[in-house]
Amino acid sequence: MGIMLDKYCRTINYLRISVTDNCNLRCIYCLGKGNTYFKKEHELLSFDEIIRVVSIAAKLGIEKIRITGGEPLMRKNICSLVRKIKNIAGIKEVLMTTNGILLNECLEELIDSGVNKINLSLDSIDHVKYRKLTGGGELSTIIEVIDRCIEKGVILKLNTVIINNYNNGEILNLIKFALEKNIDIRFIEMMPIGLSKGTEGVTSDEIKKIIEEEYILKPYEGNVLGAGPAIYYYAHSKNCNRGGRIGFISPLTHNFCSSCNRLRITSDGFLKQCLNWKYGVDLKNILRKGVSDDELEKIIKNTILNKPNKHNFGTNNQDEDKRLMSQIGG
Ligand code: SAM
Repeated sequence: MGIMLDKYCRTINYLRISVTDNCNLRCIYCLGKGNTYFKKEHELLSFDEIIRVVSIAAKLGIEKIRITGGEPLMRKNICSLVRKIKNIAGIKEVLMTTNGILLNECLEELIDSGVNKINLSLDSIDHVKYRKLTGGGELSTIIEVIDRCIEKGVILKLNTVIINNYNNGEILNLIKFALEKNIDIRFIEMMPIGLSKGTEGVTSDEIKKIIEEEYILKPYEGNVLGAGPAIYYYAHSKNCNRGGRIGFISPLTHNFCSSCNRLRITSDGFLKQCLNWKYGVDLKNILRKGVSDDELEKIIKNTILNKPNKHNFGTNNQDEDKRLMSQIGG
């Protein structure tokens, strides 16, 4: 398998695939309640199309695939896709990002399909606030599924986005929960995409300040499997013997574009070079016009090569992607 560099000499080995734009939750900063149109099955890339693209991308150096959405577990037979991707030569890891609601129904099958790690999105550990933030989600379902994942030895991380006036009072409770369960929690800065433009995210530094009221934070010096762009700290409680790892993903205040290793496929089959920019290639159209494998390889190679240098969030980027995060795949 090759090693693929873009024109800024970044190694591109990670592909995130949004398998549906639909979701069973309506998080206020992501999909919200106003969006009611979702792609029909034939408008999404089929599993065969995804497999074909991943097989060629793997030849070019893609090793790690994340299945996301929308809510990936809403896509019919998703475990069979995970299994098929795992069997592609060159693919070392298949990961999933999910809100966890449907995990109870398919956890065994998903584990059996070979998924390597699961990131579970959790923005509140308060039943009422969780329901409000997610537009109706039941926190008890998530807690049950987290316990089952732990019991079954799934490598699990919690991903959390903090928003002013919604869950900024939840930071310490979320940490307490994660540390008690002995799982990593990562705070991700909210990027101005789609609906989140109307809400005010809390920066990593602001979150750290709140954490430091109760914990001593020291840079974590060990190796964290699959840390990606997260910077980890070891948090030790000032009041009791509680401690554990906390990660910060700070695309806005400490951008990590210079080490970006990823590409994305949106739910409508568009191969995106960067989360922020609209550039890329309409794979679905190309695939359905009967592109040859050689041509497809060239197209993917060219898309990788021309990845933008960095995102332009926070500027008035005229060429930003107008898709929602649920369509792009967060
Ligand atoms: N439904 C799945 C889930 O909830 O994990 C996968 C898709 S969801 C779009 C993936 C992640 O993107 C969630 O953790 C969500 O919090 C995050 N997200 C959505 N909009 C975001 C934004 N504007 N900035 C940062 N993260 C965002």
